[in-house]
Amino acid sequence: MNSIKGDALTRVAVIDRELCKPKKCDYLCIRVCPRNRSGDKCIITDEVTKFPIIDESICIGCGICIHKCPFGAIKIVNLPEKLKEKPIHRFGRNQFLLFRLPYPIPGQIVGLIGSNGLGKTTTLMILSGQIKPNLGESKKKFDFSELITLFRGTELQNYLEKLKEKQIKVSFKLQRVDKIPETYSGKVSKLLSKTDERGILNDLISRFGLEEIQDDDIKSISGGELQRVAITACLAKDADIYYFDEPTSFLDVFQRLEVSKAIKEFCQDKSVMIADHDLATLDFLADQIHIFYGSPSVYGVISSPYSVRTGINTFLDGYIREDNVRIRTTPIKFESTYIQASRGSNVLMEFSDIKKKLGDFSLTVKKGELYGQEVLGILGANALGKTILARILAGEIKQDSGEVIGKIKISYKSQYPKTDYDGTVRELLKSVSKEVETENFKAEVMRPLELDKLLERQVKNLSGGELQRTAIAVALSKEADVYLLDEPSAFLDVEMRLSLASMIRRIVEKRSCSAMIIDHDLLFLSQIADRGMVFLGKPGKEGHAEEPKKVEDAFNSFLSIVGVTFRKDPQTGRPRANKLGSKLDREQKDKGKYFM
Ligand code: SF4
Ligand code: SF4
Repeated sequence: MNSIKGDALTRVAVIDRELCKPKKCDYLCIRVCPRNRSGDKCIITDEVTKFPIIDESICIGCGICIHKCPFGAIKIVNLPEKLKEKPIHRFGRNQFLLFRLPYPIPGQIVGLIGSNGLGKTTTLMILSGQIKPNLGESKKKFDFSELITLFRGTELQNYLEKLKEKQIKVSFKLQRVDKIPETYSGKVSKLLSKTDERGILNDLISRFGLEEIQDDDIKSISGGELQRVAITACLAKDADIYYFDEPTSFLDVFQRLEVSKAIKEFCQDKSVMIADHDLATLDFLADQIHIFYGSPSVYGVISSPYSVRTGINTFLDGYIREDNVRIRTTPIKFESTYIQASRGSNVLMEFSDIKKKLGDFSLTVKKGELYGQEVLGILGANALGKTILARILAGEIKQDSGEVIGKIKISYKSQYPKTDYDGTVRELLKSVSKEVETENFKAEVMRPLELDKLLERQVKNLSGGELQRTAIAVALSKEADVYLLDEPSAFLDVEMRLSLASMIRRIVEKRSCSAMIIDHDLLFLSQIADRGMVFLGKPGKEGHAEEPKKVEDAFNSFLSIVGVTFRKDPQTGRPRANKLGSKLDREQKDKGKYFM
């Protein structure tokens, strides 16, 4: 972590320009501010943009404007007392502020964790030279030499000097891979061939299973394929430092492991920095961890580097000792849901052995049942027929052989929620169900998903995580016996994943329904599932599902095929991935205990 000494701000004011509508409120904030009323110019109107501007050096943080603003556009937050330093970057007046920078270390993998909206992507873009930091003064002209002088004597000085002299070559994997088709067109092979600077392209294509899509157009491939193409392009370039912004989204567990192994193997003598929310992947991959804390979309601060175990445990505990800051009110604890499982004993539906052929794909399913008030975690690679089974159970398609006893109604959230709705989040939710206006739904779903802050936003402008939370609420607003959520954790930060896990467990108990959760974040699944069902086979060709079993048995069966062992962290109870080939890894594999 590298910081700059300087004049300290005591509080940050942020005005969201998408939400702020001065013509509708006639600048209510300006009229109610007590500093303005006593003659100061605490909130004024920007002559050019016509948006209000809050002067943080005059504001006393009374909060009146925040509460009076009819559109929830203002956030004013006090900064931690110990944060007596200059910011690194600010996007504009009353916009997000970032404090400090981490530093890349040759031969090491540095992981970045923290909630969404705290500046992880901004950090990676600054370090890779895509954003020129302005030290908090949005109108300031960027001066590399000044930045280097400010960081003199820190680990970043050398890195910034080399970046300035173009002596460092950077390779970057962007976060929103779903946006790639907006800037690239043509065949996958054409895009990748331009990146083959190390002679490892064919090896990567084969490891990541991309051979069959080489002739496909970039616009026609799935999110998981786009992610693997983007990671391949990043690794294939010859660089000194590799930046990966959320590399695990859309990837199944096998693909996450394959990507992790490739990063370790091909970046042994390079610097790597990775921002991700999958704690199991970071645990497996990273040598060091920086924690991002602050107030989402208002300000973000980067902690000193920790060892991986200490870093993840400190993040979960929620107390950053060196800054004397508590980042959340209570620590995150991992409890064994399979021990405290409270599913009901009523069988919602039963099915015998099932067979189904769809085109060239064939699916076989072992007999099983679905209980009321249970969460069934579904484990397995993508394209093995998980949604086909759900559609058979819902009666939407007919199996070729086998019997389904019981009739259920399924509400489904797809793997890739759509963004083409023309309207606000509130309008979308109201168009799906009247239920969303009730106090019950607000308490049960909207607040845990923090959707009240998104209601006035246009669906088209939502970020990946915001869209995910909206899509989950849409699925849960419908009446159903079973809620089938396909990859609900994608793009959500760790805290939101765990909040979602608790919310779904509460809903199945309260509504006496069931949930089937397809996901690839093993920590999330271990928190949410009562039982597990494992899908095996060849993606896109044939899938076979094992019968539902106790979740620890399903994890054990699945991980023995993945080839990764997990142990329990004594401090937090979280499952930790053992490093491949370590003593613990070998011992657990000898005993056949892949998940302890
Ligand atoms: Fe009106 Fe709120 Fe904008 Fe102030 S911040 S002008 S109160 S919408
Ligand atoms: Fe004015 Fe600051 Fe109070 Fe808002 S919080 S009303 S800007 S003094």
